[in-house]
Formats: sequence, C-alpha cells, structure tokens
Amino acid sequence: MADNPGITFERLPHPAPTGEAQRVAALANPGFGSVFSDHMVTIDWEEGKGWHNAAIGPRAPLSLDPATAVLHYAQEVFEGLKAYKQADGGLALFRPEANAARFNESAKRLAMPELPEDVFVESVRLLVETDREWFPSLEGGSLYLRPFMFASEAFLGVRPSRKYKYLVIASPAGNYFKSGAPAVSIWVSRDYSRAAPGGTGAAKCGGNYAASLVPQAEAIERGHDQVVFLDAEEHKWIEELGGMNLFFIFDDGRIVTPPLTGTILPGITRNSLLTLAREEGLDVHEERYSLDQWREDAASGRLLETFACGTAAVVTPVGKLAGHDGEITIGSGGPGQLTQKFRERLVGIQRGTIEDKYGWVMKLG
Ligand SMILES: *Cc1c(COP(=O)(O)O)cnc(C)c1O
Repeated sequence: MADNPGITFERLPHPAPTGEAQRVAALANPGFGSVFSDHMVTIDWEEGKGWHNAAIGPRAPLSLDPATAVLHYAQEVFEGLKAYKQADGGLALFRPEANAARFNESAKRLAMPELPEDVFVESVRLLVETDREWFPSLEGGSLYLRPFMFASEAFLGVRPSRKYKYLVIASPAGNYFKSGAPAVSIWVSRDYSRAAPGGTGAAKCGGNYAASLVPQAEAIERGHDQVVFLDAEEHKWIEELGGMNLFFIFDDGRIVTPPLTGTILPGITRNSLLTLAREEGLDVHEERYSLDQWREDAASGRLLETFACGTAAVVTPVGKLAGHDGEITIGSGGPGQLTQKFRERLVGIQRGTIEDKYGWVMKLG
C-alpha cells in the first residue's frame, strides 16, 4: 500500500482450495448470495492501535464470544459492489471509491472507525485478483463483493465498541430476482416504515435490512416481488425499495427520483443513472413524488416507465404497483424503452463495451 505504509496485507496460503470440478459446477448457476469464493480479507481495529492484522487468506468461519457487541446491538455496516469481466477478458470494478466513501459515511453514523479509502479499494482488488477463477460462466454473471465491518468487542454495555473487524467476501452472482421476470411487481407497505428522519436510513447497515424483512415477506405473501416504502412522517412520499432506489419516467421528458433527505440510501447506481439521464437530455429532477400522484400518473398514462436500481439487480423495470386499495399497471406492464436503454448503457460501461466517459471503471490486473 503506497499511501498506507502501516497497512500491508499478509497472504495466508489456502491449505485446500475448492477443486476445479466442484467450482465449475457451482459456477454454472450460482443464483445470488449462496456460493462463495475460496478467500476473504480481514483487518482488525482496536482503540489506541488503529487498523492492523490486514490479511487475505482462506475463507473460514469466525469464532466469536457470545457477548460480542454486534450480536446484541447490531453495530454493523456493509457495502455491495461487483467485479465485471470486460469485453477484452480483463476484470474491472465499477466506482469502488464511491463504495469506500459511502462505507465511511455509514461507519460514522454507526459510531465506527473509518477505513482509509485506498485500503478499502485495495482489499476488494486483492480479493478479486486472488479469486479470479470464481467468475460465473453464465452470460451476465459477475463477482459480487461484500465488504463489511462489525463491533467485535465482547462487552454488553451500551457504547461504541473498542474493537472492530473488517472483512471482504466474494460471491459469484447470476440473476438477482428469483423469477427472472422482465418486470417486477411491487407492494406498497402501509403498516411499516424503513427509515425515519434522524434515523439510519442513509447508512448501509444490517439493522435497516432486519427491519425490512417483515414488510418484504408481506409483499411476497401477496404475490409481489418487492416492497416499496413510504416516508415515515406523512406516509405519503415514495422513498425506495428495501435495497433499491426508484426512478419514474414521464411522457414530457421528465425523469424523477426521490431526493436524498437522509432517509434514503444514496445508491451509486442511482447517482450514475442521474448522470446518464442528463447526458440523454432528459429533464432530471430529484424531488418528492407521492403515492397518490404515482397512481394517478400510471392511470392517466403520463407515467411511461418506473424502474428500480442497485448494484445487485442493476436496472429492473417495475411493471405493477399494488397496495391495500388495488393494483395498477405501469405503462405496458413490461420493460419500458428508456429503462432498457439505461440498463444497456450501464451494463455496457461496466463491461467495457461502451466508452467510460466519466472514469467510473477501474481495470484490474
Ligand atoms: C445498497 C442499497 C441501494 C443501492 O445502492 P447501490 O450503490 O446502487 O448498489 C439502495 N437502497 C438500499 C436500501 C441499499 O441498501
């Protein structure tokens, strides 16, 4: 590490890497989040000592004291990004510095130490290069990277932990949505909120996800793919899905996404698409959009398309909006033209088939 002379990653040899036949079988249809590569990165932090013990070694279970703080008070933050295979066969990351910066914003909100951004990027790069054999063979596959940090001190008192562990694991990924449907159906949660003003909605922390599981299960039970959350104060304004941001495209050239007011996760996909939408000449607005207006605009046909976006699912068309007062189809109910165009543009940049005008792609060795 040029900029962090104190942090060098020790390479611990793997005693028994997965055999080729077993790996190839696992990579044929990995789905999302259940197949893992052979290695992981670990770095420890301790009060008075800072970051130390940086290593890349065999992926293995952790041994934790039952009093480990994260198990009780959920002091944990994470990131999600992907490595892509480029058209020329090389590997690349998409805007990893943005993930590093957001990781530290999340850490600050959860009273956790920041990790130097170049150490974050280096940790991810090291894992991808070490486990480059773990790219799924299927079309559109990628290697999903999960950096995370948790409170590792064994202590039941309520205060910020004095010890943390940072890890990165990798999971070959195929399609995120089980149904693989071209457009998803989303359910409006009436009874639950994801994030309240002053809360942790803008931080990528496990606790936000824990709170989203019951409403997400309700959506699935009712036959829908995802839940959409409204604001916690007025139950009126559209915020986002459990793990994806939303965009709305209108017949007058407007494209709207809810603003980052502190209750919405600042998606890197969202940010990238705002740039691409401006480049496309659309009339871009980060502004509040109400559920009532959404229904009205879908019914009148003024709303042409809706899509959700995030690293895991990229750009996903929303074909149907459902709630306690009934269902409404958006546009044709299938993937809209601009939605598809945005998806192709973004995927093209990520995979090196479309020019990277903004310096978003970090090529790896
Ligand atoms: C991670 C996440 C997103 C998407 O962020 P990307 O950086 O685009 O992957 C959106 N909403 C929530 C709640 C998230 O946790």
